[in-house]
Amino acid sequence: MKNKLIMVLLFALADILAAQTKITENKDAFGLVVHGGAGYIYKGRYTNEEESAYKNKLQEAIDTGYAVLSRNGSALNAVEKTIHILEDSPLFNAGKGAVMTSEETVELDAAIMDGSNLKAGAVAGIKHIKSPISLARTVMEKSPHVFMIGEGAEKFGLDNGMEKVENSYFYTEKTLEEIRKIKEEEKKRDQSYIYKDENKYGTVGCAALDKHGNLAAGTSTGGMVNKKFGRVGDVPVIGAGTYANNFTAAMSCTGHGEFFIRNVVAHDISSLIQYKGMKLNDAAKEVIMEKLLKQNGRGGVIGIDAQGNITMVFNTDGMFRGYKLNNGKSFVGMYKE
Ligand code: ASP
Repeated sequence: MKNKLIMVLLFALADILAAQTKITENKDAFGLVVHGGAGYIYKGRYTNEEESAYKNKLQEAIDTGYAVLSRNGSALNAVEKTIHILEDSPLFNAGKGAVMTSEETVELDAAIMDGSNLKAGAVAGIKHIKSPISLARTVMEKSPHVFMIGEGAEKFGLDNGMEKVENSYFYTEKTLEEIRKIKEEEKKRDQSYIYKDENKYGTVGCAALDKHGNLAAGTSTGGMVNKKFGRVGDVPVIGAGTYANNFTAAMSCTGHGEFFIRNVVAHDISSLIQYKGMKLNDAAKEVIMEKLLKQNGRGGVIGIDAQGNITMVFNTDGMFRGYKLNNGKSFVGMYKE
C-alpha cells in the first residue's frame, strides 16, 4: 500500500515536471509573421526591380516590428508599427495604394486584436483617416465598442487626434488605371465585372508574439477592386480575417473576403487548435487547403502561436509574406517555394 502511494506520487511529480518543461520550453520565444496579400503572384509576373521593391518593403516592415519586440515592446505595438510601413507604401492594397471601389473612391477596412484579453477593434468604410489600423486600435482602447464604420468611426478618430487626409491621398496612378480598365471592360461586357486575371488580394497583415508571451494580430485593406461602395470584407470581421487568442494563435488572412466571412476562417483555425488539439500549421492547412479550396475560396493566412510556431499557408499562386523569430530564423518571399 505504502509503495503504491509512493509510486502514484512519483508519477504525479513526473507529470508536473513534464508539463512545466513544456510550458517553459519556448518561454523566451518571440517574433512576428507578416503578409502583403495573396493572389496571382507567380514567377514571371514581376520584373526584378518590382520583386526587390516588394521584398525590401516587407523586410522593412518585419524589421520595424521585430525591433519593437526585441526592445521588450508589446505584440500590439509591433503589429501596429509593422502595418504602418505597409499602409504607407503604395505597393500594397492598404492605406496609400489601396484598390478602388466601383465609384472610383477608396474605402478602407482594418482590425486589430489583443490575444491576452480578447479585446478587439475594427473599422470599415474609412475614407479620410490616414492609418486605418491605428483607428482600429483607438476603437479598441478608447471606445466601449469593437466595431465602428464610416463617418462615425472617422469622427471618433479625429476626436482622438488621428490624422485626416483627402480620399485622393490613397489614389495612385496604378489603382486609377486599374479601375478605369475594369470600367471599360464592364462596358464591353455590359455587366458588372470582377477583374479576376489581375486580381491580387494585396491586403496587409501581421501576427506577433512578444517576450511576455502575448499574441496580437492586425489586418488592413482596401478590400477587393471594383467592390460596390459600402461593401465590407472579412478583414474587420473579428474571427473571419483577423483573430488572436493567447491560448491558440494570432492570425491575419488575405483573399476573397466573402469566403473568409462565410467560413469564419481565423476563428475556425483557432477552434481546431483549441478543441481538436491541432498544431497551428496543420489547422491552417485544413481550413485553407481543404475547406476553402473545395468552395473555390482563394487566399491565405499567416499566424503565430505562443511557442513561436508560425504558419504561412495559401491556396493561390503566391502570397507576399515573411517572418522573423528570435531563434535566428527569418524569411521573405512571394512565390510558392
Ligand atoms: N480579404 C480582403 C477583402 O476581401 C481582400 C484582400 O485580402 O486583399 O476585403
